[in-house]
Amino acid sequence: MPANNAMDAARETLRGVFGYDAFRPGQERVIAATLAGRDVMAVMPTGAGKSLCYQIPALVMEGVTIVVSPLISLMRDQVNALIHSGVRAAYINSSLTPRQHMLALDNARRGVYRIIYVAPERLMTPSFLSFARSVRIAQVVVDEAHCVSQWGQDFRPGYLQIEPFVASLPVRPPVSAFTATATEAVRRDIIRLLKLSDPYGVTTGYDRPNLFFEVRRPGDRDMELLRFVREHAGQSGIVYCATRKGVEETTRMLQRNGVDAVGYHAGMADEIRASAQEDFVGDTAPVIVATNAFGMGIDKSNVSFVVHYNMPKDLESYYQEAGRAGRDGEDAVCCLLYQPADVHLNQFLIEHSMETSDLDGPTQEIVIERAKERLKQMTYYATTGGCLRARILQYFSETPESPRCGSCSSCLHEQAERDVTREAGLIVSGVMAMGGRYGKGIVARVLAGEKDAKIRERGLDKLSAFGCLRSEGEANIRAMIDELVIDEALEITDGQYPLVKPGPRARETLLGDEPVRMTLRTASAADAAPAAGRVKPKKLVDKKLLSRLIALRRRIAEEQHVPPFIIFTNATLRDMAHKQPANRREMMRVDGVGKGKMSRYGEAFLREIAAYAQQE
Ligand code: ADP
Ligand code: ZN
Repeated sequence: MPANNAMDAARETLRGVFGYDAFRPGQERVIAATLAGRDVMAVMPTGAGKSLCYQIPALVMEGVTIVVSPLISLMRDQVNALIHSGVRAAYINSSLTPRQHMLALDNARRGVYRIIYVAPERLMTPSFLSFARSVRIAQVVVDEAHCVSQWGQDFRPGYLQIEPFVASLPVRPPVSAFTATATEAVRRDIIRLLKLSDPYGVTTGYDRPNLFFEVRRPGDRDMELLRFVREHAGQSGIVYCATRKGVEETTRMLQRNGVDAVGYHAGMADEIRASAQEDFVGDTAPVIVATNAFGMGIDKSNVSFVVHYNMPKDLESYYQEAGRAGRDGEDAVCCLLYQPADVHLNQFLIEHSMETSDLDGPTQEIVIERAKERLKQMTYYATTGGCLRARILQYFSETPESPRCGSCSSCLHEQAERDVTREAGLIVSGVMAMGGRYGKGIVARVLAGEKDAKIRERGLDKLSAFGCLRSEGEANIRAMIDELVIDEALEITDGQYPLVKPGPRARETLLGDEPVRMTLRTASAADAAPAAGRVKPKKLVDKKLLSRLIALRRRIAEEQHVPPFIIFTNATLRDMAHKQPANRREMMRVDGVGKGKMSRYGEAFLREIAAYAQQE
């Protein structure tokens, strides 16, 4: 263990520089291990607070900390945030001009910076090596460490230079590796390839209590997405699409319907992409539609929702992407729009994924088999009636606290098995009355008694079957139709417009010869309150004050050309509106206000709060 006073200094830094009262799970242990000089291998989910795990030791230990990071945008954001907290930091990557590059290294050599972010490809360049050999290095940090593994999803050959770089230093500093996703195989690869020596291992729970998980299985994804976005109007979110074309179409669809959305994918011109990201990060465009390949580049803490327009290929990808929501600790929603076609598309992609691979035949087969198994697990998540959070945690080999979390769409729409012999008969007779000439959507809406234009035009609201299952709702009727197709009581035709017709066993079902049982949503569960204890009670916040603080933050952000969350996160503003500090000392008690931020922005926000208090 490090000397107590080192940990005291760490706690003081947490408070004084970053403005937080307590460590989050895992942070303290990682910091203690680093301060004791040990290597670290930490697997912590997105939003767990990995950055502080190395930034705090960087400020406590002597010497400079080198952070290897894969993405220019991530480095820029991190360095910006540090500078705003009063920490001297810089980055070195291909976005610098040769002059800026030289200047940064000169400063670094003179000990101006405590933390330097660097792209892996820069490590072994002569200029960087000569700098690194001439100063005292406190620690080398490897962010997104799974990039070193070929088994990982984002293999980056440059990461293989990290180990030779460390080995070439006159004194080997402690090395710590951080990642949000790592299966056992990837974790072993990280330790082996980075030559971590007896690393202190930390795996904090995968659970993200502030995220609400939801699966929707819509007939029409566009309509469902619009509905979702409208339910979350005024919030900021990401919509992930599987393809570039999907990104463009969906962006246009949203814009046509009055949603301020921007699109983002690798095929777009650099400046368009950069401005899209800026609009999103700066809160001018609340919704960004992007391909999942770019999840890592979008770094913003106040994302209130992540919608997947298509089902990804595995739960690793899904959880990593969905996890970009709610990094500020505020409640956020992760919604997956699922259609069975997603499975076929992914299967196709897996089968063709090896066409340009150098792997030998048998290895290819193993890789494909594994990918198919992962897809199966993903599909199970998308179709299960069980608790979604429990599914995720079990997938990552964690035991959930309880089999039902009370804070996912399955738990809210609890399902139960019951006798639906009568309902099944009504559906079959309804299909007969409609002459087998309509698709599932219309049949379900007629039986549910919904009077839309199409139904009125065709006179379907005059049928005696109209509204005969009103109490079930459209979703349950659709689910029952699916089951009745499996039972052969109904048939669905092939072709562009599949129609529902009576099947070979329609008669038996109509007569109720055999009891029919199905698992369906219980009516009461649909509007039941979430289980107590899971969803944390919201702080009492003065909404009017909060919106003034948000407006002030926006003005400052625009003046200084930085994204708003760099000034204060939403969680901090919320806490500020709750505590309503009247002086500097009280302001320093607000979560997320440290000395650096206090001296930069504290007065402005105190004035705003005082002005507000006087008016009220
Ligand atoms: P990760 O890299 O693990 O995804 P970050 O390091 O970006 O997560 O941290 C996520 C958010 O949590 C940031 O806004 C950060 O300031 C905040 N945070 C980190 N540690 C704490 C803490 N101990 N208390 C409160 N907030 C914290
Ligand atoms: Zn649940």
